[in-house]
Amino acid sequence: MANVLIIGAGGVGRVVVHKCAQNSDTFGKITLASRTLSKCELYQQEVKERYGVDIDIAQVDADSIKELVNLIEQTKPDVVLNIALPYQDLTIMEACLQTGVHYLDTANYEHPDTAKFEYKEQWAYDDRYKEKGIMALLGSGFDPGVTNVFCAYAQKHYFDEIHTIDILDCNAGDHGYPFATNFNPEINLREVSAKGRYWENGKWIETEPMEFKMVWDYPQIGPRDSYLLYHEEMESLVKHIKGLKRIRFFMTFGESYLTHMKCLENVGMLGIEEVEHNGCKIVPIQFLKTLLPDPATLGARTKGKTNIGIVAEGIKDGQKRKIYIYNVCDHEETYKETLSQAVSYTTGVPAMIGAKMMVEGKWMCPGVYNMEQFDPDPFMEALNQYGLPWHIEEL
Ligand code: NDP
Repeated sequence: MANVLIIGAGGVGRVVVHKCAQNSDTFGKITLASRTLSKCELYQQEVKERYGVDIDIAQVDADSIKELVNLIEQTKPDVVLNIALPYQDLTIMEACLQTGVHYLDTANYEHPDTAKFEYKEQWAYDDRYKEKGIMALLGSGFDPGVTNVFCAYAQKHYFDEIHTIDILDCNAGDHGYPFATNFNPEINLREVSAKGRYWENGKWIETEPMEFKMVWDYPQIGPRDSYLLYHEEMESLVKHIKGLKRIRFFMTFGESYLTHMKCLENVGMLGIEEVEHNGCKIVPIQFLKTLLPDPATLGARTKGKTNIGIVAEGIKDGQKRKIYIYNVCDHEETYKETLSQAVSYTTGVPAMIGAKMMVEGKWMCPGVYNMEQFDPDPFMEALNQYGLPWHIEEL
């Protein structure tokens, strides 16, 4: 049985802890560590009450490699699950390298001062991870994560060559607040307010934020305005999906969300540079995070569904083919199961499954990898088994 160390007791961390505790035949020893011990205590109590599983907890500052190394040496995990913020990806990767322990995360490294959404600095660990004989699995959430696996599955079973991919992410949940973000507001608002970008014929093409819109009819939800954004999984997919000519990413937003965001942006509240306020230095987007509802508290109020998937077009046996693979997830159902809304659930379940693939040796190879580089079949089977069933339609 495997020993896991989960770092980050936020919205997604809660789901990961619940899912690992539900699978205690695989994850025999679970430790949850975060900056704030009281959150770990809360989740520790929840899983004890719900599943009768005892987990260990610890306080850690994941910005400190020394603290991380100490924690890893004390807890001796087989794999470290980085469910903190993408700012900590490199410190946690470094601590895993120093201690010789496998690593997994759900988002790519993000520099606190510059919004880049790039894998470059994590891919740079590949040689050192190979030399050490350890593995890093990058982006084991839903998008990135499951969307990459959907692409690999389409490539393996449905196409000789995939020519175009559209990743389609719809959250039709309603939490009743005029404005709130479903996961960490700093990351969410940076992503949404940045310029859009897609890849076509070997080049990245930039668009203004929210410049390109289409309406997509999402199964079990209905037609929704969907806007072209840059999203990190495209960077690895263009390297690994053969014959690809174009890849784009779309996310749905309602009018009210966009109006609030535009207004906040216009007054400078999305800024990531420090400003002076009454003698104190503050970062506007961090102050905004303090004012907004904590995403971890949205679960109890959110109704509706998410639908995230991919549409792939290409050639099979000389014939044109177009398929749609997607998952639909219900906010109220996920809350009943794990006390979390569907955005955290759809990220946390694949993190647990990624760790399961690694500790069971189904996905295990020294080096740094993205999700589409492994055999998609066992992961797709596990999605059906652990709460994220998927559908395939020929279009
Ligand atoms: P939250 O902000 O809710 O939680 C982050 C957690 O990390 C908090 O518990 C926080 O600490 C902890 N943390 C932050 N900094 C440190 C630090 N220096 N040391 C120790 N702990 C720290 O984020 P989410 O749970 O919403 O998201 C988690 C990750 O998942 C993010 O990287 C996000 O980008 C990613 N994500 C990926 C998605 C995907 O589909 N791939 C979708 C959604 C999110 P504290 O204990 O103080 O609360």
